Amino acid sequence: MLRVLRGLVSLFGLFLLCFSAYADVHAVAVQGDGINTRIVISADTEINHDEFLNNDSGAALIVDVGNKPWTGAAINFSPRAGIRNLEWIDGQLVFWLDGPMMISRASDLPPYGRRASHRLVIDLVSVSNVRYLRAAKRDTRRLESLRSERRLASADSPRRVEAGGRRYVVVIDPGHGGADPGTSHHGAVERTIVLEAAQKLEAMLAANPLYDVRLTRSDDTFIELEDRVKLARDWEADLFISLHADAAGTPEVHGAGVYTLSAKGQARVDRTARGQNWELPFETGETPDEVASILGDFLKRETQSNSEKFASLLIPELERAGPILRNTHRNENFFVLLAPDVPAVLLEMGFLTNRTDARRLSSAEGQRKAMSAVANAIDVYFEQQAVLMAQN
Ligand SMILES: [Zn+2]
Repeated sequence: MLRVLRGLVSLFGLFLLCFSAYADVHAVAVQGDGINTRIVISADTEINHDEFLNNDSGAALIVDVGNKPWTGAAINFSPRAGIRNLEWIDGQLVFWLDGPMMISRASDLPPYGRRASHRLVIDLVSVSNVRYLRAAKRDTRRLESLRSERRLASADSPRRVEAGGRRYVVVIDPGHGGADPGTSHHGAVERTIVLEAAQKLEAMLAANPLYDVRLTRSDDTFIELEDRVKLARDWEADLFISLHADAAGTPEVHGAGVYTLSAKGQARVDRTARGQNWELPFETGETPDEVASILGDFLKRETQSNSEKFASLLIPELERAGPILRNTHRNENFFVLLAPDVPAVLLEMGFLTNRTDARRLSSAEGQRKAMSAVANAIDVYFEQQAVLMAQN
């Protein structure tokens, strides 16, 4: 989910010049009349938040923003809004209230339109002192347990931060498996070839600390198509590569082929996502429908364009490594390409109905050659993505 939102931030960054230089929480605004008050907290990334009323040293609303760094936010308080002051204490925002108030609603808004920030909007309403104190008592217990959890976590965990932050998640999907052998000719069986190739690719990529490489299957078992996509989405894959081998009616047809989603397939994305309950983070009901639909369209277009980009990098690499089909990079309707938020290609490594291809793809050397072409394309693809991200 975070991953998707990060993608959206980068996407909107392409259109917006007003990207903040602050690392995180960069603005806090308070408006209202003391009866109804609204707090808006803006950050560059999604805000993991929790709120607590507190009465230890006067009425206060404590907003925990999930260990976000404080880099000095722009603070904009309208007078008489019911909040006196704001302090940053132990990684939490403390709003000192003029009188007893409670939260009537807290909503997260992802970036949209001209706004490049994630916003947390908290609406407060004035209440009786009795109600306030009861809520504050309950919240104080929750707050204490959160703080002691944090202390334990920071004492236990090594303070090592992965260099460069999150690694790129590359999901390799060896097609077929188990009861589903795929195609088989000339002694070559698709389910076996694609698994062997996937494991070689995994080993090549594992050497690079930038990648977190995962296989949808690492042995000869059958996995439903739906589950392959579900795994990729659950792992928040940055790239999904499905490996297959083809068969043709004539033995002369040979060479590798690369497939992305066709225009017709695009039309299936929404329907499939609904049918499979592939929910996007802004489809949780908090975001207005029309905004969710705009974000959804952006995301699908970005995903499709990244799939095409990767395919166009992969083809010349494959061409150097062995024969490829004429008119490769064909658009197809394959189910595994249908996730709205995971750039995906399907690689037909060759035709098992062609004797030379079958021999090439059954050999360790042939598999290694094909997969090092894929690994090269992956390297170039993510280098380009990193440049794009940096430009935002
Ligand atoms: Zn296949």
